[in-house]
Amino acid sequence: MLRPLLPSFLSVVALTPVIVQPTDVLTATVTPLAPRQGDTLQVSIQSSAETPPQVRFGPRTIPVFAIGAGQYRALIPTTPVLKPGGYLLTVQGATQARRIPIEVARRSFPVQRIWLPPGKSDLGTDFEFDRVDAFKALITPELFWTGPLRRPAPGRISTGYGVRRYYNGVFAEDYFHRGLDYADATGTPVRAPAAGRIALVGYEQQGFEVHGNTIGIDHGQGIASILIHLNRINVREGQFVQAGDVIGTVGNTGASTGPHLHWGFYVLGESVDPTPWLQRGLN
Ligand SMILES: [Zn+2]
Repeated sequence: MLRPLLPSFLSVVALTPVIVQPTDVLTATVTPLAPRQGDTLQVSIQSSAETPPQVRFGPRTIPVFAIGAGQYRALIPTTPVLKPGGYLLTVQGATQARRIPIEVARRSFPVQRIWLPPGKSDLGTDFEFDRVDAFKALITPELFWTGPLRRPAPGRISTGYGVRRYYNGVFAEDYFHRGLDYADATGTPVRAPAAGRIALVGYEQQGFEVHGNTIGIDHGQGIASILIHLNRINVREGQFVQAGDVIGTVGNTGASTGPHLHWGFYVLGESVDPTPWLQRGLN
């Protein structure tokens, strides 16, 4: 007996799968909304896709880190030498993208005029610059800190972040003060501004002619502190520290003209202004 054609045909129709586009959730928020040169942009992303989103800032690919189920974060440094103006932030998910225009505002920084005597020799060794560069290039997947940063020394800020310079009357296009200087007496305790792993210890007598006695703390995920011109160093490479731990003392080592602590705060190898991080921190 032949089976009727019609029911067979219908069953085929009924089995044809309906193709549904996966509607993954992708949201991205950026703070601060109106950044100025030196600010760090924090991009918070929610994505239901299985693959992590990709973030670009202008032409630059920015590392993205998972911070919870379906939650991601990317931090984007800006500096005084980043051209002010419009940049496109792109968050690319599995099936969709978010395009967020970001306007980086010009910020006016104080200017110093430095007069160098002719024939002044250049300080600094390849050894110290190679070690410092390698430290700043670290992007460790783990995150070692949360919350606001704490100031590493008690003194007043003698030179702020981003100060520009003229040398012998010529504007130094690439120079800006990559950190905060705290005026404190030699021997004043220096504290870790946030938790992390000691990833760099350098001594003046080993060749750290410019930085002097130096501690580099890897806070994780491309965030780092460098503390230089120290007198004493109380830590060793590989050691983990907590925020507020005394790691050394203020000094006048390296290219320094008086006792002070220089603290540089770096995101993806670029010096950002730590001041907003002292107030709002990372959560
Ligand atoms: Zn300094």
